[in-house]
Amino acid sequence: MTAFTNCTACQADATTHFKHLGPLCESCFCTSVEKRVRKNTNFAPQTPINIFDDHYINALVAEHILKNILKGPWKIQRTTNLDIATVLAWSADDEASARLNAAITETPQPCTPALPLSGLTNQELITYAHAKGITGNHPQQTPLQKLFLTLEQKSPGAITNLAKNLRPHD
Ligand SMILES: [Zn+2]
Repeated sequence: MTAFTNCTACQADATTHFKHLGPLCESCFCTSVEKRVRKNTNFAPQTPINIFDDHYINALVAEHILKNILKGPWKIQRTTNLDIATVLAWSADDEASARLNAAITETPQPCTPALPLSGLTNQELITYAHAKGITGNHPQQTPLQKLFLTLEQKSPGAITNLAKNLRPHD
């Protein structure tokens, strides 16, 4: 007999098994992702939300989630002009590797616009995109980001914690 795992939030059949989240169905997984992005998002009303579009799937995911969770006086759009971008669609992996590189090479911390997706690992981002039918090119994983995957398997939550710990405090 097959043992089914139930979603810890609604008891439906679980389809995702991220260790730090526990088993979740697709719908509860997406809700968990959106809630975390919401917590990580603090735009003043009327602020232009220009997501930097580097032609990778991250920008499409950021646009989809922000349009879903932000109801109000915001104009949300993608731009290929970095000068007017106010949002980077960095995952926790992207942020952790950028900050780690800066720390190791002792260069100043990258000055970044808002990073609403930085509480999500690449794997969570990809799983969310798949669930929502968002398709696009995936950025090439750097050697460091490949190491992060192993780290995350051994110590779930490690990548988001690393990104958080290396963030400059003001
Ligand atoms: Zn569920």
